[in-house]
Amino acid sequence: MLTIDRATYDGIVAHAKRDHPDEACGIVAGPQGTDRPERLVEMINAAGSPTFYEFDSTDLLRLYRDMDDRDEEPVVIYHSHTATEAYPSRTDIGLAMEPHAHYVLVSTRVEGNNAGPVEFRSYRIVDGEVTEEEVTVVDVLPPTQAKHATSQGDPDGR
Ligand SMILES: [Zn+2]
Repeated sequence: MLTIDRATYDGIVAHAKRDHPDEACGIVAGPQGTDRPERLVEMINAAGSPTFYEFDSTDLLRLYRDMDDRDEEPVVIYHSHTATEAYPSRTDIGLAMEPHAHYVLVSTRVEGNNAGPVEFRSYRIVDGEVTEEEVTVVDVLPPTQAKHATSQGDPDGR
């Protein structure tokens, strides 16, 4: 399941609508191992295409160095489809290299640049196999789970 906060969700949707009819793409980084999409990074679609996206290789390298410095990983990797459904294409599946990432697809095929609902779906893509997962949008991400029990313990006793 992907849990994402409302502001980040809205940011991804706004980016997709703005770049329509070209595909928009980006990453939401988060602290390693937490599965928390915290830092939205809009990327440039170097292909500038309505049917394909490609991260600019220089931008991507810079982003990965930056995430490394911050002990972050790509929690969400998103792009939009502007004429087809929000489902990974054969090309998307072939390019998916992050087994731990949530691959988010947004489709702007109905409303285009205009306000209104979009398809927003999330997938795991591992070894060419696509599995859709539930998306939960929350106002604020829940507090980070402590990795080790503290002396204060948890009020629920868990
Ligand atoms: Zn695609």
